Amino acid sequence: MGKILRVNMSDRVARLEELPEKYSLLGGRALTSQIVFDEVPPDCNPLGPFNKLVIAPGLLSGTTAPSSGRLSVGGKSPLTGGIKEANAGGVTSQKLASLGIKAVIIEGRPSTDDWYLVKVSAAGADLIPANDLAGKGTYEVTTVLLERYGKEVGIITIGPAGEMLMATAGVTNNDNDGNSSRYAGRGGLGAVMGSKHVKAIVVDTVEHFGARVKDVEQFRAAARIFTECLRKHPITGNGLAAYGTDILMNIVNEIGALPTRNFHSGHFDQAREVSGEKLAEVAVARGGKATHSCMPGCVMHCSNIYPMPDGKVCAPIEYETAWALGPNLENANLDIVAKLNYICNDVGLDTIETGCTLGVLMDAGVLPFGDGEAAVKVLEEVGKATPLGRIIGSGSVCAGKVFGITHVPAAKGQGMPGYDPRACKGNGVTYATSPMGADHTAGYAVTANILRSGGYVDPLKSDGQVELSRNLQIATAAIDSTGLCLFVAFAVLDDPEALPAIIAMLNAQYGLQMTAEDVTKLGQQVLRTEREFNRLAGFTGADDSLPEFFVLEEFPPHNTRFDIDAKELSQVFNF
Ligand code: SF4
Repeated sequence: MGKILRVNMSDRVARLEELPEKYSLLGGRALTSQIVFDEVPPDCNPLGPFNKLVIAPGLLSGTTAPSSGRLSVGGKSPLTGGIKEANAGGVTSQKLASLGIKAVIIEGRPSTDDWYLVKVSAAGADLIPANDLAGKGTYEVTTVLLERYGKEVGIITIGPAGEMLMATAGVTNNDNDGNSSRYAGRGGLGAVMGSKHVKAIVVDTVEHFGARVKDVEQFRAAARIFTECLRKHPITGNGLAAYGTDILMNIVNEIGALPTRNFHSGHFDQAREVSGEKLAEVAVARGGKATHSCMPGCVMHCSNIYPMPDGKVCAPIEYETAWALGPNLENANLDIVAKLNYICNDVGLDTIETGCTLGVLMDAGVLPFGDGEAAVKVLEEVGKATPLGRIIGSGSVCAGKVFGITHVPAAKGQGMPGYDPRACKGNGVTYATSPMGADHTAGYAVTANILRSGGYVDPLKSDGQVELSRNLQIATAAIDSTGLCLFVAFAVLDDPEALPAIIAMLNAQYGLQMTAEDVTKLGQQVLRTEREFNRLAGFTGADDSLPEFFVLEEFPPHNTRFDIDAKELSQVFNF
Protein backbone atom coordinates (compact mmCIF):
# COMPACT_ATOMS: atom_id res chain seq x y z
CA MET A 1 0.00 0.00 0.00
CA GLY A 2 2.98 2.29 0.41
CA LYS A 3 5.05 3.89 3.14
CA ILE A 4 5.45 7.19 4.86
CA LEU A 5 9.02 8.35 5.48
CA ARG A 6 8.93 10.24 8.77
CA VAL A 7 12.01 12.28 9.59
CA ASN A 8 12.10 13.59 13.15
CA MET A 9 14.72 16.30 13.34
CA SER A 10 14.41 16.71 17.12
CA ASP A 11 15.81 13.25 17.80
CA ARG A 12 17.33 12.92 14.28
CA VAL A 13 15.66 9.67 13.32
CA ALA A 14 14.37 8.77 9.85
CA ARG A 15 12.02 5.81 9.72
CA LEU A 16 9.60 4.22 7.28
CA GLU A 17 6.04 3.68 8.51
CA GLU A 18 3.15 1.79 6.98
CA LEU A 19 0.72 4.14 5.27
CA PRO A 20 -2.46 4.46 7.37
CA GLU A 21 -5.49 3.01 5.58
CA LYS A 22 -7.27 6.39 5.63
CA TYR A 23 -4.56 7.83 3.37
CA SER A 24 -4.50 4.95 0.90
CA LEU A 25 -6.50 6.74 -1.82
CA LEU A 26 -4.97 10.16 -1.30
CA GLY A 27 -1.94 11.55 -3.09
CA GLY A 28 -0.29 14.85 -3.98
CA ARG A 29 -2.17 17.87 -2.65
CA ALA A 30 -4.97 15.77 -1.12
CA LEU A 31 -2.40 13.92 0.97
CA THR A 32 -0.18 16.86 1.95
CA SER A 33 -3.18 18.95 2.98
CA GLN A 34 -4.77 16.08 4.92
CA ILE A 35 -1.56 15.28 6.79
CA VAL A 36 -0.99 18.97 7.55
CA PHE A 37 -4.57 19.18 8.81
CA ASP A 38 -4.15 16.04 10.94
CA GLU A 39 -0.70 16.72 12.35
CA VAL A 40 0.06 20.46 12.35
CA PRO A 41 -1.52 22.71 15.02
CA PRO A 42 -3.16 25.51 12.97
CA ASP A 43 -2.00 28.16 15.44
CA CYS A 44 1.65 27.07 15.46
CA ASN A 45 4.57 29.21 14.37
CA PRO A 46 5.24 28.17 10.74
CA LEU A 47 8.97 28.24 11.43
CA GLY A 48 8.79 26.51 14.80
CA PRO A 49 9.09 22.86 15.77
CA PHE A 50 5.36 22.09 15.52
CA ASN A 51 5.01 22.84 11.82
CA LYS A 52 5.79 19.98 9.44
CA LEU A 53 6.99 19.85 5.87
CA VAL A 54 5.05 17.24 3.94
CA ILE A 55 6.15 16.07 0.49
CA ALA A 56 4.01 13.73 -1.59
CA PRO A 57 3.98 12.31 -5.11
CA GLY A 58 0.62 12.31 -6.85
CA LEU A 59 -1.70 9.31 -7.12
CA LEU A 60 -0.50 8.62 -10.68
CA SER A 61 3.16 9.56 -10.16
CA GLY A 62 5.61 6.79 -10.92
CA THR A 63 3.38 5.39 -13.65
CA THR A 64 3.53 5.93 -17.41
CA ALA A 65 0.54 8.28 -17.29
CA PRO A 66 1.80 11.27 -19.32
CA SER A 67 3.00 14.32 -17.35
CA SER A 68 2.07 12.73 -14.01
CA GLY A 69 5.20 13.39 -11.96
CA ARG A 70 4.27 16.59 -10.13
CA LEU A 71 5.61 16.75 -6.58
CA SER A 72 3.38 18.32 -3.92
CA VAL A 73 4.97 20.12 -0.99
CA GLY A 74 2.80 21.21 1.94
CA GLY A 75 2.90 22.79 5.38
CA LYS A 76 1.75 25.89 7.22
CA SER A 77 2.97 28.85 5.18
CA PRO A 78 5.24 31.45 6.77
CA LEU A 79 4.05 33.87 4.07
CA THR A 80 0.27 33.54 4.38
CA GLY A 81 -0.07 31.98 7.84
CA GLY A 82 -2.45 29.45 6.30
CA ILE A 83 -2.19 26.01 4.79
CA LYS A 84 -0.02 25.73 1.70
CA GLU A 85 0.48 23.29 -1.11
CA ALA A 86 2.93 24.15 -3.87
CA ASN A 87 3.81 21.68 -6.60
CA ALA A 88 6.55 21.27 -9.14
CA GLY A 89 7.67 19.13 -12.03
CA GLY A 90 11.05 17.43 -12.06
CA VAL A 91 11.95 13.81 -11.37
CA THR A 92 11.68 13.35 -7.61
CA SER A 93 7.96 12.64 -7.48
CA GLN A 94 8.31 9.74 -9.91
CA LYS A 95 11.29 8.42 -7.99
CA LEU A 96 9.60 8.61 -4.57
CA ALA A 97 6.55 6.85 -6.01
CA SER A 98 8.80 4.20 -7.57
CA LEU A 99 10.22 3.52 -4.10
CA GLY A 100 6.68 3.08 -2.78
CA ILE A 101 6.88 6.25 -0.68
CA LYS A 102 3.55 8.04 -0.51
CA ALA A 103 4.75 10.91 1.65
CA VAL A 104 7.80 12.33 3.41
CA ILE A 105 7.04 14.11 6.69
CA ILE A 106 9.79 16.26 8.20
CA GLU A 107 9.01 17.31 11.75
CA GLY A 108 10.64 18.76 14.88
CA ARG A 109 13.81 20.80 14.90
CA PRO A 110 17.40 19.92 15.87
CA SER A 111 18.83 21.44 19.04
CA THR A 112 22.08 22.43 17.28
CA ASP A 113 22.82 24.52 14.19
CA ASP A 114 24.03 21.53 12.18
CA TRP A 115 22.62 20.80 8.74
CA TYR A 116 21.47 17.43 7.43
CA LEU A 117 20.67 15.59 4.26
CA VAL A 118 18.02 12.87 4.07
CA LYS A 119 18.92 10.00 1.77
CA VAL A 120 16.22 7.55 0.80
CA SER A 121 16.62 4.43 -1.29
CA ALA A 122 15.15 0.93 -1.58
CA ALA A 123 17.37 -0.01 1.38
CA GLY A 124 15.75 2.57 3.70
CA ALA A 125 16.42 6.10 4.84
CA ASP A 126 19.36 7.82 6.53
CA LEU A 127 20.12 11.23 7.96
CA ILE A 128 23.57 12.37 6.90
CA PRO A 129 25.48 15.41 8.24
CA ALA A 130 25.56 18.12 5.56
CA ASN A 131 27.28 21.16 7.04
CA ASP A 132 29.47 21.19 3.93
CA LEU A 133 26.39 22.14 1.86
CA ALA A 134 25.19 24.95 4.12
CA GLY A 135 25.19 28.39 2.51
CA LYS A 136 25.51 27.00 -1.00
CA GLY A 137 23.17 27.83 -3.85
CA THR A 138 20.88 25.21 -5.31
CA TYR A 139 22.89 24.83 -8.53
CA GLU A 140 26.07 23.98 -6.64
CA VAL A 141 24.30 21.70 -4.16
CA THR A 142 22.66 19.77 -6.99
CA THR A 143 25.95 19.44 -8.89
CA VAL A 144 27.78 18.22 -5.78
CA LEU A 145 25.08 15.68 -4.91
CA LEU A 146 24.78 14.36 -8.46
CA GLU A 147 28.53 13.75 -8.42
CA ARG A 148 28.41 12.17 -4.97
CA TYR A 149 25.40 9.89 -5.43
CA GLY A 150 25.22 9.41 -9.21
CA LYS A 151 23.61 11.20 -12.14
CA GLU A 152 20.32 9.34 -11.82
CA VAL A 153 19.32 10.43 -8.31
CA GLY A 154 16.57 12.89 -7.57
CA ILE A 155 17.48 15.89 -5.41
CA ILE A 156 15.11 18.10 -3.43
CA THR A 157 16.87 21.11 -1.96
CA ILE A 158 16.70 24.68 -0.70
CA GLY A 159 18.97 27.67 -1.24
CA PRO A 160 20.39 30.15 1.27
CA ALA A 161 17.02 31.98 1.38
CA GLY A 162 15.43 28.87 2.88
CA GLU A 163 18.29 28.45 5.33
CA MET A 164 17.79 32.08 6.41
CA LEU A 165 14.05 31.41 6.94
CA MET A 166 12.92 33.95 4.36
CA ALA A 167 9.16 33.80 3.95
CA THR A 168 9.28 33.55 0.15
CA ALA A 169 11.82 30.73 -0.10
CA GLY A 170 10.87 27.76 -2.26
CA VAL A 171 11.73 24.08 -2.46
CA THR A 172 13.34 22.94 -5.69
CA ASN A 173 14.08 19.62 -7.35
CA ASN A 174 15.99 18.55 -10.41
CA ASP A 175 14.66 17.93 -13.88
CA ASN A 176 15.45 15.28 -16.41
CA ASP A 177 18.86 16.80 -17.21
CA GLY A 178 19.98 17.52 -13.67
CA ASN A 179 18.93 21.20 -13.69
CA SER A 180 17.86 22.13 -10.18
CA SER A 181 15.17 24.63 -10.94
CA ARG A 182 11.79 22.91 -10.76
CA TYR A 183 10.31 24.91 -7.93
CA ALA A 184 7.48 24.37 -5.51
CA GLY A 185 8.01 28.05 -5.14
CA ARG A 186 5.02 29.58 -3.48
CA GLY A 187 4.32 30.35 0.14
CA GLY A 188 7.73 29.99 1.75
CA LEU A 189 7.90 26.22 2.16
CA GLY A 190 11.68 26.47 1.59
CA ALA A 191 11.86 28.35 4.88
CA VAL A 192 9.90 25.54 6.58
CA MET A 193 12.45 23.05 5.25
CA GLY A 194 15.22 25.40 6.42
CA SER A 195 13.66 25.61 9.88
CA LYS A 196 14.13 21.84 10.14
CA HIS A 197 17.81 22.21 9.13
CA VAL A 198 17.33 19.83 6.21
CA LYS A 199 19.36 21.13 3.27
CA ALA A 200 18.50 18.37 0.82
CA ILE A 201 16.71 15.09 0.23
CA VAL A 202 18.36 12.61 -2.11
CA VAL A 203 16.03 10.08 -3.72
CA ASP A 204 18.35 7.29 -4.77
CA THR A 205 16.78 5.19 -7.50
CA VAL A 206 17.15 5.08 -11.28
CA GLU A 207 13.45 4.23 -11.64
CA HIS A 208 10.88 6.72 -12.89
CA PHE A 209 8.02 4.37 -13.64
CA GLY A 210 8.22 1.82 -10.81
CA ALA A 211 4.86 2.45 -9.11
CA ARG A 212 2.63 -0.61 -8.79
CA VAL A 213 -0.31 -0.85 -11.19
CA LYS A 214 -3.01 -3.47 -10.57
CA ASP A 215 -4.36 -3.82 -14.08
CA VAL A 216 -1.51 -3.05 -16.47
CA GLU A 217 -3.45 -3.62 -19.71
CA GLN A 218 -6.35 -1.40 -18.72
CA PHE A 219 -3.89 1.23 -17.56
CA ARG A 220 -1.94 1.20 -20.82
CA ALA A 221 -5.10 1.51 -22.89
CA ALA A 222 -6.30 4.50 -20.87
CA ALA A 223 -2.85 6.12 -20.93
CA ARG A 224 -2.79 5.83 -24.74
CA ILE A 225 -6.15 7.59 -25.03
CA PHE A 226 -5.08 10.31 -22.61
CA THR A 227 -1.78 10.87 -24.42
CA GLU A 228 -3.67 11.28 -27.67
CA CYS A 229 -6.02 13.82 -26.03
CA LEU A 230 -2.99 15.92 -25.01
CA ARG A 231 -1.33 15.60 -28.40
CA LYS A 232 -4.33 16.68 -30.44
CA HIS A 233 -5.42 19.64 -28.28
CA PRO A 234 -4.29 22.95 -29.85
CA ILE A 235 -2.85 24.29 -26.57
CA THR A 236 -1.24 21.19 -25.05
CA GLY A 237 -0.22 19.65 -28.36
CA ASN A 238 0.76 22.78 -30.22
CA GLY A 239 1.03 26.16 -28.42
CA LEU A 240 2.64 24.96 -25.17
CA ALA A 241 4.61 22.32 -27.00
CA ALA A 242 6.13 24.89 -29.39
CA TYR A 243 6.75 27.97 -27.24
CA GLY A 244 6.15 26.95 -23.62
CA THR A 245 4.07 28.91 -21.13
CA ASP A 246 5.60 32.22 -22.23
CA ILE A 247 3.45 31.99 -25.35
CA LEU A 248 0.95 33.72 -23.05
CA MET A 249 2.94 36.97 -22.98
CA ASN A 250 1.64 38.43 -26.23
CA ILE A 251 -1.85 36.97 -25.72
CA VAL A 252 -2.34 38.42 -22.22
CA ASN A 253 -0.83 41.72 -23.36
CA GLU A 254 -3.15 41.97 -26.36
CA ILE A 255 -6.16 41.39 -24.17
CA GLY A 256 -5.07 44.18 -21.82
CA ALA A 257 -4.62 42.01 -18.71
CA LEU A 258 -0.81 42.02 -18.47
CA PRO A 259 0.10 43.68 -15.16
CA THR A 260 2.66 46.33 -16.04
CA ARG A 261 4.59 48.70 -13.77
CA ASN A 262 3.42 47.06 -10.55
CA PHE A 263 -0.17 46.53 -11.71
CA HIS A 264 -0.70 50.13 -12.87
CA SER A 265 -1.54 49.20 -16.47
CA GLY A 266 -2.59 46.17 -18.53
CA HIS A 267 -0.45 46.76 -21.58
CA PHE A 268 3.32 46.78 -22.07
CA ASP A 269 4.53 48.16 -25.42
CA GLN A 270 7.63 45.97 -25.42
CA ALA A 271 6.02 42.72 -24.26
CA ARG A 272 7.12 40.88 -27.41
CA GLU A 273 10.76 41.30 -26.30
CA VAL A 274 10.12 38.90 -23.40
CA SER A 275 7.56 36.68 -25.15
CA GLY A 276 7.74 32.95 -25.75
CA GLU A 277 8.33 33.57 -29.45
CA LYS A 278 11.36 35.76 -28.71
CA LEU A 279 12.58 33.34 -26.04
CA ALA A 280 12.47 30.43 -28.49
CA GLU A 281 14.34 32.43 -31.12
CA VAL A 282 17.15 33.50 -28.77
CA ALA A 283 17.42 30.16 -26.96
CA VAL A 284 17.77 28.18 -30.18
CA ALA A 285 20.21 30.69 -31.71
CA ARG A 286 22.45 30.25 -28.65
CA GLY A 287 22.31 26.46 -28.71
CA GLY A 288 19.60 26.10 -26.06
CA LYS A 289 16.14 24.58 -26.40
CA ALA A 290 12.78 26.21 -27.05
CA THR A 291 11.01 23.14 -25.65
CA HIS A 292 12.04 20.65 -23.02
CA SER A 293 10.42 18.08 -20.72
CA CYS A 294 10.91 18.57 -17.01
CA MET A 295 10.20 14.91 -16.37
CA PRO A 296 10.25 11.64 -18.31
CA GLY A 297 6.88 10.95 -19.91
CA CYS A 298 5.77 14.52 -20.52
CA VAL A 299 4.21 14.95 -23.96
CA MET A 300 3.63 18.73 -23.66
CA HIS A 301 7.29 19.69 -22.94
CA CYS A 302 6.49 23.33 -22.10
CA SER A 303 9.88 23.92 -20.51
CA ASN A 304 12.96 25.52 -22.11
CA ILE A 305 16.71 25.89 -21.74
CA TYR A 306 17.96 29.45 -22.10
CA PRO A 307 21.72 30.03 -22.42
CA MET A 308 22.69 33.38 -20.90
CA PRO A 309 25.42 35.69 -22.23
CA ASP A 310 27.73 34.77 -19.33
CA GLY A 311 27.70 31.10 -20.40
CA LYS A 312 25.37 29.95 -17.60
CA VAL A 313 22.03 28.35 -18.37
CA CYS A 314 18.64 29.40 -17.03
CA ALA A 315 16.15 26.56 -17.27
CA PRO A 316 13.31 27.20 -17.55
CA ILE A 317 11.92 30.72 -18.02
CA GLU A 318 8.18 30.39 -17.45
CA TYR A 319 5.51 32.94 -18.38
CA GLU A 320 4.92 33.93 -14.76
CA THR A 321 8.61 34.59 -14.24
CA ALA A 322 9.07 36.41 -17.55
CA TRP A 323 6.09 38.62 -16.63
CA ALA A 324 7.06 39.19 -12.95
CA LEU A 325 10.65 40.13 -13.77
CA GLY A 326 9.80 41.70 -17.14
CA PRO A 327 6.67 43.84 -17.77
CA ASN A 328 5.88 44.13 -14.07
CA LEU A 329 9.18 45.98 -13.68
CA GLU A 330 8.96 47.62 -17.13
CA ASN A 331 11.95 45.52 -18.10
CA ALA A 332 12.03 44.41 -21.77
CA ASN A 333 15.44 42.76 -21.64
CA LEU A 334 15.12 38.97 -21.79
CA ASP A 335 18.72 38.46 -20.63
CA ILE A 336 17.96 40.51 -17.51
CA VAL A 337 14.84 38.39 -16.94
CA ALA A 338 17.02 35.29 -17.22
CA LYS A 339 19.63 36.71 -14.87
CA LEU A 340 17.03 37.62 -12.24
CA ASN A 341 15.41 34.20 -12.70
CA TYR A 342 18.78 32.50 -12.25
CA ILE A 343 19.54 34.41 -9.05
CA CYS A 344 16.09 33.51 -7.65
CA ASN A 345 16.61 29.85 -8.53
CA ASP A 346 20.06 29.76 -7.01
CA VAL A 347 19.35 31.59 -3.77
CA GLY A 348 16.03 29.77 -3.57
CA LEU A 349 13.29 32.40 -3.97
CA ASP A 350 9.83 32.30 -5.53
CA THR A 351 10.09 34.29 -8.78
CA ILE A 352 6.47 35.52 -8.72
CA GLU A 353 6.78 36.91 -5.21
CA THR A 354 10.19 38.39 -6.02
CA GLY A 355 8.78 40.18 -9.07
CA CYS A 356 5.89 41.56 -7.01
CA THR A 357 8.30 42.71 -4.31
CA LEU A 358 10.64 44.41 -6.76
CA GLY A 359 7.58 46.12 -8.30
CA VAL A 360 6.62 47.48 -4.89
CA LEU A 361 10.20 48.66 -4.29
CA MET A 362 10.15 50.44 -7.65
CA ASP A 363 6.83 52.08 -6.76
CA ALA A 364 8.50 53.23 -3.55
CA GLY A 365 11.38 54.77 -5.48
CA VAL A 366 13.98 52.42 -4.00
CA LEU A 367 15.06 51.72 -7.60
CA PRO A 368 13.67 52.98 -10.91
CA PHE A 369 11.15 51.12 -13.06
CA GLY A 370 12.82 49.76 -16.16
CA ASP A 371 16.28 49.55 -14.60
CA GLY A 372 17.12 45.86 -14.93
CA GLU A 373 20.72 46.22 -13.80
CA ALA A 374 19.54 47.91 -10.59
CA ALA A 375 17.10 45.04 -10.06
CA VAL A 376 19.93 42.52 -10.41
CA LYS A 377 22.01 44.47 -7.92
CA VAL A 378 19.34 44.58 -5.21
CA LEU A 379 18.36 40.95 -5.78
CA GLU A 380 21.97 39.92 -5.18
CA GLU A 381 21.57 41.39 -1.69
CA VAL A 382 19.28 38.48 -0.72
CA GLY A 383 22.18 36.02 -0.61
CA LYS A 384 24.26 38.54 1.33
CA ALA A 385 21.46 38.90 3.91
CA THR A 386 21.60 42.70 3.93
CA PRO A 387 18.55 44.44 5.42
CA LEU A 388 17.20 45.19 1.92
CA GLY A 389 17.93 41.61 0.86
CA ARG A 390 15.96 40.33 3.83
CA ILE A 391 13.05 42.62 2.96
CA ILE A 392 13.03 41.24 -0.59
CA GLY A 393 13.10 37.69 0.76
CA SER A 394 10.17 38.50 3.03
CA GLY A 395 7.84 39.36 0.15
CA SER A 396 5.70 42.10 -1.31
CA VAL A 397 3.47 42.76 1.71
CA CYS A 398 6.51 43.20 3.94
CA ALA A 399 8.13 45.53 1.40
CA GLY A 400 4.92 47.59 1.23
CA LYS A 401 4.86 47.99 5.00
CA VAL A 402 8.53 48.91 5.26
CA PHE A 403 8.37 51.52 2.50
CA GLY A 404 4.84 52.83 3.09
CA ILE A 405 3.29 51.55 -0.14
CA THR A 406 -0.37 50.45 -0.18
CA HIS A 407 -0.37 49.51 -3.87
CA VAL A 408 0.67 45.93 -3.07
CA PRO A 409 -0.77 43.21 -5.35
CA ALA A 410 -1.28 40.39 -2.85
CA ALA A 411 -4.04 38.29 -1.31
CA LYS A 412 -3.70 36.52 2.04
CA GLY A 413 -0.15 37.87 2.11
CA GLN A 414 0.94 36.25 -1.15
CA GLY A 415 1.98 38.22 -4.25
CA MET A 416 -0.21 38.07 -7.32
CA PRO A 417 0.60 36.25 -10.58
CA GLY A 418 0.58 37.75 -14.08
CA TYR A 419 -3.12 38.35 -14.83
CA ASP A 420 -4.70 41.48 -13.39
CA PRO A 421 -7.94 40.72 -11.52
CA ARG A 422 -9.64 43.76 -13.07
CA ALA A 423 -9.17 42.45 -16.61
CA CYS A 424 -9.33 38.72 -15.88
CA LYS A 425 -11.99 38.71 -13.19
CA GLY A 426 -12.28 34.95 -12.88
CA ASN A 427 -8.68 34.86 -11.73
CA GLY A 428 -9.50 37.72 -9.35
CA VAL A 429 -12.12 35.52 -7.69
CA THR A 430 -9.55 32.75 -7.35
CA TYR A 431 -6.91 35.10 -5.90
CA ALA A 432 -9.38 36.41 -3.33
CA THR A 433 -10.86 33.12 -2.22
CA SER A 434 -8.28 30.36 -2.64
CA PRO A 435 -7.04 28.92 0.66
CA MET A 436 -3.57 29.38 -0.87
CA GLY A 437 -3.76 33.16 -1.31
CA ALA A 438 -3.16 34.78 -4.72
CA ASP A 439 -2.41 31.71 -6.79
CA HIS A 440 -3.28 31.47 -10.48
CA THR A 441 -2.89 27.70 -10.51
CA ALA A 442 -5.54 27.25 -7.79
CA GLY A 443 -8.35 28.05 -10.24
CA TYR A 444 -6.96 29.11 -13.59
CA ALA A 445 -9.84 31.12 -15.04
CA VAL A 446 -7.56 32.30 -17.84
CA THR A 447 -8.93 29.17 -19.53
CA ALA A 448 -12.42 30.58 -20.14
CA ASN A 449 -11.61 34.29 -19.64
CA ILE A 450 -8.82 34.51 -22.20
CA LEU A 451 -8.07 31.22 -23.97
CA ARG A 452 -11.70 30.17 -24.56
CA SER A 453 -10.97 26.69 -23.29
CA GLY A 454 -13.98 25.06 -21.62
CA GLY A 455 -16.29 27.84 -22.91
CA TYR A 456 -16.09 31.62 -22.65
CA VAL A 457 -16.75 33.98 -19.77
CA ASP A 458 -16.14 37.68 -20.56
CA PRO A 459 -13.03 38.60 -18.51
CA LEU A 460 -14.18 42.20 -18.00
CA LYS A 461 -17.62 41.38 -16.59
CA SER A 462 -18.48 39.98 -13.19
CA ASP A 463 -21.17 37.59 -14.49
CA GLY A 464 -20.27 33.93 -14.20
CA GLN A 465 -16.85 34.44 -12.57
CA VAL A 466 -17.78 32.98 -9.17
CA GLU A 467 -19.13 29.80 -10.72
CA LEU A 468 -16.13 29.57 -13.06
CA SER A 469 -13.62 29.95 -10.23
CA ARG A 470 -15.53 27.51 -8.01
CA ASN A 471 -15.55 24.78 -10.64
CA LEU A 472 -11.91 25.33 -11.51
CA GLN A 473 -10.78 25.35 -7.87
CA ILE A 474 -12.55 22.02 -7.30
CA ALA A 475 -11.11 20.49 -10.48
CA THR A 476 -7.64 21.82 -9.72
CA ALA A 477 -7.61 20.40 -6.21
CA ALA A 478 -8.40 17.00 -7.74
CA ILE A 479 -5.80 17.29 -10.53
CA ASP A 480 -3.15 18.42 -8.03
CA SER A 481 -3.86 15.22 -6.13
CA THR A 482 -3.19 12.98 -9.13
CA GLY A 483 0.30 14.35 -9.82
CA LEU A 484 -0.78 15.32 -13.33
CA CYS A 485 0.61 18.59 -14.60
CA LEU A 486 -2.13 21.22 -14.40
CA PHE A 487 -1.80 21.91 -18.11
CA VAL A 488 -3.73 18.71 -18.79
CA ALA A 489 -6.75 20.77 -17.72
CA PHE A 490 -7.05 22.22 -21.23
CA ALA A 491 -7.66 18.76 -22.66
CA VAL A 492 -9.95 17.86 -19.75
CA LEU A 493 -12.06 20.97 -20.38
CA ASP A 494 -12.37 20.50 -24.14
CA ASP A 495 -12.08 16.79 -24.92
CA PRO A 496 -14.82 14.47 -23.62
CA GLU A 497 -12.39 11.53 -23.68
CA ALA A 498 -9.80 13.09 -21.36
CA LEU A 499 -11.44 12.91 -17.92
CA PRO A 500 -12.73 9.33 -18.42
CA ALA A 501 -9.19 8.36 -19.42
CA ILE A 502 -7.75 9.84 -16.19
CA ILE A 503 -10.40 8.03 -14.15
CA ALA A 504 -9.68 4.79 -16.03
CA MET A 505 -5.97 5.12 -15.22
CA LEU A 506 -6.73 5.66 -11.52
CA ASN A 507 -9.12 2.72 -11.47
CA ALA A 508 -6.60 0.47 -13.22
CA GLN A 509 -3.79 1.47 -10.88
CA TYR A 510 -5.68 1.09 -7.63
CA GLY A 511 -8.37 -1.44 -8.54
CA LEU A 512 -11.20 1.05 -8.05
CA GLN A 513 -14.59 1.83 -9.56
CA MET A 514 -14.18 5.58 -9.30
CA THR A 515 -16.56 7.89 -11.22
CA ALA A 516 -16.41 11.53 -12.30
CA GLU A 517 -18.56 12.35 -9.29
CA ASP A 518 -15.93 10.83 -7.01
CA VAL A 519 -13.26 13.03 -8.58
CA THR A 520 -15.40 16.11 -7.91
CA LYS A 521 -15.92 14.96 -4.32
CA LEU A 522 -12.17 14.53 -3.89
CA GLY A 523 -11.56 18.12 -5.06
CA GLN A 524 -14.30 19.45 -2.78
CA GLN A 525 -12.93 17.52 0.19
CA VAL A 526 -9.43 18.92 -0.34
CA LEU A 527 -10.77 22.48 -0.39
CA ARG A 528 -12.92 21.93 2.69
CA THR A 529 -9.93 20.55 4.60
CA GLU A 530 -7.76 23.50 3.60
CA ARG A 531 -10.46 26.03 4.42
CA GLU A 532 -11.01 24.46 7.81
CA PHE A 533 -7.28 24.57 8.61
CA ASN A 534 -7.26 28.26 7.72
CA ARG A 535 -10.36 28.93 9.83
CA LEU A 536 -8.68 27.30 12.82
CA ALA A 537 -5.55 29.35 12.09
CA GLY A 538 -7.65 32.51 12.45
CA PHE A 539 -8.79 33.31 8.89
CA THR A 540 -12.29 34.74 8.43
CA GLY A 541 -14.46 35.69 5.46
CA ALA A 542 -12.73 39.08 5.47
CA ASP A 543 -9.56 37.39 4.30
CA ASP A 544 -11.31 36.34 1.09
CA SER A 545 -10.71 39.71 -0.51
CA LEU A 546 -8.39 41.73 -2.72
CA PRO A 547 -6.49 44.90 -1.80
CA GLU A 548 -8.60 48.06 -2.01
CA PHE A 549 -6.81 49.52 -5.01
CA PHE A 550 -8.23 46.81 -7.26
CA VAL A 551 -11.71 48.07 -6.33
CA LEU A 552 -10.88 51.78 -6.32
CA GLU A 553 -8.47 52.25 -9.23
CA GLU A 554 -9.44 51.86 -12.89
CA PHE A 555 -7.10 49.64 -14.84
CA PRO A 556 -6.09 50.81 -18.33
CA PRO A 557 -6.61 50.08 -21.20
CA HIS A 558 -10.14 48.83 -20.33
CA ASN A 559 -10.51 51.10 -17.31
CA THR A 560 -12.28 48.41 -15.33
CA ARG A 561 -12.30 47.76 -11.59
CA PHE A 562 -12.72 44.57 -9.60
CA ASP A 563 -16.43 44.74 -8.81
CA ILE A 564 -17.28 41.31 -7.40
CA ASP A 565 -18.31 42.06 -3.85
CA ALA A 566 -17.81 40.16 -0.61
CA LYS A 567 -21.29 38.62 -0.73
CA GLU A 568 -20.69 37.15 -4.17
CA LEU A 569 -17.21 35.97 -3.22
CA SER A 570 -18.67 34.17 -0.21
CA GLN A 571 -20.61 31.96 -2.65
CA VAL A 572 -17.45 30.35 -4.06
CA PHE A 573 -17.40 27.63 -1.43
CA ASN A 574 -21.12 27.09 -1.54
CA PHE A 575 -20.96 23.39 -2.38
S1 SF4 B 1 3.94 20.46 -19.43
FE1 SF4 B 1 5.76 21.59 -18.72
S2 SF4 B 1 5.55 21.76 -16.46
FE2 SF4 B 1 4.08 20.22 -17.19
S3 SF4 B 1 5.16 18.28 -16.92
FE3 SF4 B 1 5.56 18.95 -19.04
S4 SF4 B 1 7.46 20.17 -19.02
FE4 SF4 B 1 6.75 19.90 -16.88
